[in-house]
Amino acid sequence: MRSDKRKVAVVGTGMVGMSYAYSLLNQSVCDELTLIDINKTRAEGEAMDLNHGLAFAASNMKISAGNYEDCRDADIVVIAAGVAQKPGESRLDLLRRNTEVFRSIIEPVISSGFNGIFLVATNPVDIMTRITCVLSGFNPGRVLGSGTALDTARLRYLVGGYLRVDPRNVHAYVMGEHGDSEFVPWSQAFLATKTILELGKNGENELRSCLDHIEEEVRTAAYRIIEAKQATYYGIGMALTRITKAILGDEHSVLTVSAMLRGDYGQRDIYTGVPCIINQNGVQRVLELSLSEQEMEKFGKSCKTLRESFEGIV
Ligand code: NAD
Repeated sequence: MRSDKRKVAVVGTGMVGMSYAYSLLNQSVCDELTLIDINKTRAEGEAMDLNHGLAFAASNMKISAGNYEDCRDADIVVIAAGVAQKPGESRLDLLRRNTEVFRSIIEPVISSGFNGIFLVATNPVDIMTRITCVLSGFNPGRVLGSGTALDTARLRYLVGGYLRVDPRNVHAYVMGEHGDSEFVPWSQAFLATKTILELGKNGENELRSCLDHIEEEVRTAAYRIIEAKQATYYGIGMALTRITKAILGDEHSVLTVSAMLRGDYGQRDIYTGVPCIINQNGVQRVLELSLSEQEMEKFGKSCKTLRESFEGIV
């Protein structure tokens, strides 16, 4: 910790940034919270609104709208700022515009003397996290993205429902890009210590088709939520809160974040969603699972997609 108070700065006080802030307050995760946005009035309004809930909160928290200088003594800077895709705009053009947004954020954060951990939520999160690492010049362990943390939570919820068990006893992960090329390594999915592939109630074929269906539900969840309510924010807000707790509490917890691979799974210099051990220094290490040959192939394909997107903008 940079001081005895746990301080978080959120850049981008839109739906994701504020769902995260609301969740931080409700779970008493930090002592000080600074809200920063290009739209200062919006950040000020959000700070007022949250402060008015303090009388009902479980613990005290200093909440204010601020600017980049306030990041100097923050433990974590969370970036949830971004611009929306314009009609007719290509994905690559959107990426280029978001890169400019990140340049306008990371440079002043670094100039403030910030020496903590960057946590990125802006999409495409694996690419934006890699851009944050490049622009900040920080050691990659101190730059992480929400990756497939939310997708993994969705997976555990659905598997828990299918097996009629508490999702907290389901140990399974979504790996790769937070997006269309993500996949579930089922060979590494467990209910307590029993592999899920052994648990078919009506035979192997029925189980496989249910698991394939669950995997597809996870992969397309965001599309369906956006179709129904234009955006997704509560789930990601809680996923970011969980990662923040692991960092501030020096928990050494296993979470699927977007982390830099440095030879892990035979991949190098790429950010993607993998189970990692998270502590006060960020990504303490990538946990390398024993993937089957087929799963390694899916992982390789997902990394290739991400590599091509990143190379398209540099
Ligand atoms: P939003 O439009 O509600 O909020 C974006 C905020 O960013 C706005 O308040 C805007 O003023 C601010 N902003 C824009 N440019 C800025 C700049 N240069 N400096 C500072 N602030 C700036 O969007 P949202 O729904 O909150 O989504 C934010 C991002 O999170 C999007 O990229 C979205 O795709 C992503 N997201 C990620 C996940 C995930 O799992 N990683 C899930 C949901 C959404």
